Amino acid sequence: MAEIELGYTADYHVHLRRGEMMEAVAPAVRQGGISIAYVMPNLTPPVTDIETVIRYKKELQILAPKTTFLMTFYLSRLLTPQLVEKAAELKVIRGIKCYPAGVTTNSKAGVDLNNFTVFHPIFRVMQKHDLVLNIHGEKPSSINSKDGDAVTVLNAESKFLPALLKIHQDFPKLKIVLEHCSTKEAIDTIYDINKGLLDDETPTVCGSITVHHLYLTVDDWAGNPINFCKPVAKLPEDRLALIGAATSGKPFFFFGSDSAPHDISKKRTHINVSAGVYTQPYVLSYLAELFDKVGQLDKLKGFVSIFGNKFYGMDNEEKLVSKSKCYLVKKSVIIPKLVTHNSINVAVFQPGKTFSWSPEWR
Ligand SMILES: [Zn+2]
Repeated sequence: MAEIELGYTADYHVHLRRGEMMEAVAPAVRQGGISIAYVMPNLTPPVTDIETVIRYKKELQILAPKTTFLMTFYLSRLLTPQLVEKAAELKVIRGIKCYPAGVTTNSKAGVDLNNFTVFHPIFRVMQKHDLVLNIHGEKPSSINSKDGDAVTVLNAESKFLPALLKIHQDFPKLKIVLEHCSTKEAIDTIYDINKGLLDDETPTVCGSITVHHLYLTVDDWAGNPINFCKPVAKLPEDRLALIGAATSGKPFFFFGSDSAPHDISKKRTHINVSAGVYTQPYVLSYLAELFDKVGQLDKLKGFVSIFGNKFYGMDNEEKLVSKSKCYLVKKSVIIPKLVTHNSINVAVFQPGKTFSWSPEWR
């Protein structure tokens, strides 16, 4: 097999930043073989109003005219049900991202996990308008808990899962994505929620999976800031569960890279290293290599095009700014150490390694 047609590829979790960094990374979406990009709102300040989200999308579109951008709001007390309703009617957002306060880059304005009920009026509007709730599913670390129920980066996701089940129980029709699943427990939970799903049914609760979590385990980031991200990569059995889910052909697991660029200066520091792995320019090469290695290359199209697009209602050509399709071709690529734009330098995932597949547009 020397060529595979992947159709309208989509990455349902990207960080494209602002300013010089945005100029550096927005064009890389297409370079990486992705047609549709779902853009995260954790800028400073976070994206919580209609004017900002329209302006942000315009800026991205100028830098990447052939990429279809889907935009999001940042769930916070700054949002009101009226504002969300208006944004839904104007179709300027496709979903809202929920960050528990303080767990990752620019999440200070996020949500207090002990008090989701304040957002119930917003969830109600989202459910009515088919907006997607994207959840960064981690509890903040608390190692001093007296009952021995400590939360660390290793169990932060597992500890969050009851909160996911509660939201789904309270809003059974609200579309939810547990972003960047990193544990076997998360995968098992998504399977469990979908156990009664019929073949032609669209799931309500899905899990997105990054490419770096398919490669990394805890030893890869302990001592290597380039591989450090949130949620952190976990144990080998977790990685195997993620590979199993990504290649399962199940419609409730799809691709969201969580590609998160930071200038190398934020990675080369000895305190407060920024969390985030930058995969955008080579996402399909990384994915194809892995799917190929486990003998599941025929499952890649479902994972990277079909399932996410169906869930987000993007399985309709009319919604795309470019109708060229992505093809995977047998053409090797060597990953550079850095990508550079003006004063920006970003370290890329898997530097110096060679991958055997590349994307092509036709
Ligand atoms: Zn993210």
